[in-house]
Amino acid sequence: MTTKKFTPPPNFIKNIIEEDLKKGKYEGRVHTRFPPEPNGYLHIGHAKSICLNFGLAEEYGGKCNLRMDDTNPETEREEYVEAIKEDVRWLGFDWEDRLYFASDYFEKLYEYAVDLIKKGKAYVDSLSPEEIREYRGTLTRPGKESPYRNRTVEENLDLFERMRKGEFPDGSHVLRAKIDMSHPNLNMRDPVMYRIKHVPHYRTGNRWCIYPTYDFTHCLSDSIERITHSICTLEFEDHRPLYDWFLDELGVYHPQQIEFARLNLTYTVLSKRYLSVLVKEGFVSGWDDPRMPTIRGLRRRGFTPEAIRDFCERIGVAKRNSVVDIALLEHCLREDLNKRAPRAMAVLDPLKVVIINYPENQVEELEAINNPEDQAMGTRKVPFSRVLYIEKSDFMEDPPKKYYRLAPGREVRLRYGYYITCVDVKKDPSTGEVVEVHCTYDPATRGGWSPDGRKVRGTIHWVSAQHAIAAEARLYDYLFTRADMVNLEEGEDFKQYINPESLKVVYPCYVEPSLLNAPVESRYQFERLGYFCVDPDSSPDRPVFNRIVTLKDTWSKIQKKLGS
Ligand code: ATP
Ligand code: MG
Repeated sequence: MTTKKFTPPPNFIKNIIEEDLKKGKYEGRVHTRFPPEPNGYLHIGHAKSICLNFGLAEEYGGKCNLRMDDTNPETEREEYVEAIKEDVRWLGFDWEDRLYFASDYFEKLYEYAVDLIKKGKAYVDSLSPEEIREYRGTLTRPGKESPYRNRTVEENLDLFERMRKGEFPDGSHVLRAKIDMSHPNLNMRDPVMYRIKHVPHYRTGNRWCIYPTYDFTHCLSDSIERITHSICTLEFEDHRPLYDWFLDELGVYHPQQIEFARLNLTYTVLSKRYLSVLVKEGFVSGWDDPRMPTIRGLRRRGFTPEAIRDFCERIGVAKRNSVVDIALLEHCLREDLNKRAPRAMAVLDPLKVVIINYPENQVEELEAINNPEDQAMGTRKVPFSRVLYIEKSDFMEDPPKKYYRLAPGREVRLRYGYYITCVDVKKDPSTGEVVEVHCTYDPATRGGWSPDGRKVRGTIHWVSAQHAIAAEARLYDYLFTRADMVNLEEGEDFKQYINPESLKVVYPCYVEPSLLNAPVESRYQFERLGYFCVDPDSSPDRPVFNRIVTLKDTWSKIQKKLGS
């Protein structure tokens, strides 16, 4: 088998960095950061940003910080900080001793704000939030200056200090940058820098009752950390002039912001707003439900960090938004696990087979290959006995012409076992359904080949009934029935596209005894059925296997059709 070598797509950010390195900009340093807000769990879109930021630092011998962008006390929690750290580590990245918090910069940011007031570049506004919105104008209508815009520096300093001391209620004053109320870019119309919130913060407690806005904080945090390339998603392109304004007016170190297109995936939503509805309204079991696009969901489902990193590399970075086919992510997983996952036999939809010429109490240990892709993974013993389970779909009483599996009078190969021939069936008298298939085996065909050169077309998997472990299998489909969830109309209800059949629980299915006590998170290829991963819900009495993906690689198929 030949595997085509994968060439990564061009990466315009690397071109920029290489150009900067050539010119000696930033003394040849590359220093990036991944800046999540600890208000939820990371998802596959964040993984793209993580791989990009940590990946670039690694590639150019630089550094990458992990920074919590934590300026909203209402929604942020320590629990999310810990989860983010765990997820970034699990993906395989290391921030070393550079875990930072925007909330650690509150004092410094306050000083910067005072600086801008002193320069006549910021003022305390006392319009109500509604009035501020009204005065802001629209894309077609210029904004209007606030009557408080021309307060003196002394008055502004005094009011701002009293805001900090807690003398005023929420919403009574804000600190705004004094830029231009008729600027064509709405972000430049005297944006708010500080608001009053008498809300404790998960890290600073009650020390502050004024909080800096994201825009004011973000660019200055990058500056404080001496980030060279501040990489963010496209929606911040319109904020760049404001960031430049803050940095230039303050005359501080100035990182270079570079925007790239965020990841969108077919049949998937990636906005925290939607994801939290799925959790809160019970459409999934939690943030780590194996159907969720969160890192914890993917992890529980059985995705490997290697497959996710490979995926992020393959999708590359672009300047234009697009939707990536989720089949590519699945393809990356299959490629990874094909090389690494041990094979095993399991039967999801059991049908009993009795080998009538096999001795009642005999048990044989047959040798099975653990991974045909990797000799070093060796072999294992699989018990064989008179009564087996096979898949219901591997038997047909009245088969069509091209059906090569078991049927009355037909001979098939049992994987790693013998040739068997169906000689009789037993039916449920009330339904007519076949409940037992009677076969004979040919003792000369041990190991799955015949010394007389007799060929059989079909090979089916099986487990020995008396040795098999009864297990639960969870079979998944996409959470949504619509591919382009990212193109929902304004106000359209995303819940109408929830797939009611995204989870199918199968019990009992039967797995070979070598899987007894398989540890949580271990992954297997169940022959012909797909890749499976042991779920944390497993117990010795009831092991639970998540199907990560089936073996049908729709991505490869699409690529072949495209002739690439
Ligand atoms: P959401 O839209 O899911 O609420 P967010 O952008 O508000 O996500 P943050 O915690 O602010 O979440 O994101 C941290 C970093 O991850 C930011 O730099 C952001 O640009 C990046 N990021 C978030 N979503 C994506 C995505 N879909 N593709 C690429 N990068 C993303
Ligand atoms: Mg954000």
